[in-house]
Amino acid sequence: MWLTFPLQRSTANRPSVTRFSTCRVAPVRGLSSMKGVRVVVVGAGVVGFSTAVCIAEALPFCSVSLLAEKFSPDTTSDGAAGILFAAEFPDIPLERQRRWFKNSFDHLLDIAQSRNSPEAGVMLSSGWQIFKDVPADKKPFWSELVIGFRSMTDAELKRFPDHKFGQAFTTIKCECSSYLPWLHQRFIKAGGQVEQRKVNSLQELSNAYDVIVNCSGLGSKQLAGDDEVHPVRGQVLKVEAPWLKHFIRDGDGKTYIYPGIHSVTIGGTRQEGDWRLHVDEGEAKSIVERCGALEPSVSRARVLSEWVGLRPGRRNPRVEREVAQLRGRRVPVVHNYGHGGWGVTLAWGTALDALGLVRMCLHKMPQRAKL
Ligand SMILES: Cc1cc2nc3c(=O)[nH]c(=O)nc-3n(C[C@H](O)[C@H](O)[C@H](O)COP(=O)(O)OP(=O)(O)OC[C@H]3O[C@@H](n4cnc5c(N)ncnc54)[C@H](O)[C@@H]3O)c2cc1C
Repeated sequence: MWLTFPLQRSTANRPSVTRFSTCRVAPVRGLSSMKGVRVVVVGAGVVGFSTAVCIAEALPFCSVSLLAEKFSPDTTSDGAAGILFAAEFPDIPLERQRRWFKNSFDHLLDIAQSRNSPEAGVMLSSGWQIFKDVPADKKPFWSELVIGFRSMTDAELKRFPDHKFGQAFTTIKCECSSYLPWLHQRFIKAGGQVEQRKVNSLQELSNAYDVIVNCSGLGSKQLAGDDEVHPVRGQVLKVEAPWLKHFIRDGDGKTYIYPGIHSVTIGGTRQEGDWRLHVDEGEAKSIVERCGALEPSVSRARVLSEWVGLRPGRRNPRVEREVAQLRGRRVPVVHNYGHGGWGVTLAWGTALDALGLVRMCLHKMPQRAKL
């Protein structure tokens, strides 16, 4: 059974057809004359695999390939805490950002509430976001999209004496070290093909493919020649602390404790323009101290691993279509990159938008390429 587009939540009595059926993307009708159109997605992070799955499931008459230099467990997405909430991007209509958030949240909630939850690494997570100063906007744009959003009571805030205001809610944690292999399988099941390879330029792909979808994250700086893209360095530790069940995030975004399926992620740093990929011991110490100030028992937790990742920073994510002149050929390119610190949160939502843009490319394609 296929769901209608856009995705709807599954219902308990919907018959299960495959392991992925709860949230499968509905195939698009009326484009079957496009049989054999070759689509390539560049990037195997959470944005690339989400986009590739949406296209392969919705456009089964196309041949869909995914190319990437790095796959799980070596992408930025793999190390992200994967908690779902977001900051506002300045130049994108809030309605569009809300739709990205909602489509992602609903898609992942379906998984979190299904039997696939442990295998896909997707779980519900409840906790608090706390602020040293009362924020101007007490209700973020996604407050009605998560579950049970409310302001914290004075009694709840008592344990955070340096903080004046807080929000309590239930959201989702999506652990990409499990979710990416799960999406990979789902892509293969939908007929997709995967190849490990560095792409040096989009020109390189112009003869072999009819539509190019660029989901190369920070790699877009070079691949799309986009100087707006820059690294925002983040350092985290994974610790063993099974007694911690609630997330705690300082509203400044720099200090957080996120309990997960097998460990607790504590962080972090946000360093604009910093390309360093090695762990900085001074920063690790500072993270343990800052998190210990919010949750004293963190100092008792055993460190399991330390990790640094470079967020694909950009003023706004780029989710748009262009027609590029590549080696004398006009090739449609759909860009989907630059999600900064919110790529896990927004991946499925922007993937559905990218799918819409690919469909638009197919509609505009000259008859010759459709045959
Ligand atoms: C410490 C930290 C914590 C985070 N926590 C969260 C969180 O809690 N919630 C949240 O929503 N987000 C979080 N993020 C942000 C999130 O990790 C990113 O937004 C997301 O991973 C971006 O995904 P992506 O697919 O665009 O990029 P990536 O995961 O970096 O994937 C890019 C892909 O493109 C490929 N590629 C690039 N260039 C080329 C090329 N030339 N040829 C071939 N392949 C290429 C790469 O090999 C890779 O496969 C966090 C990030 C960090 C660093």
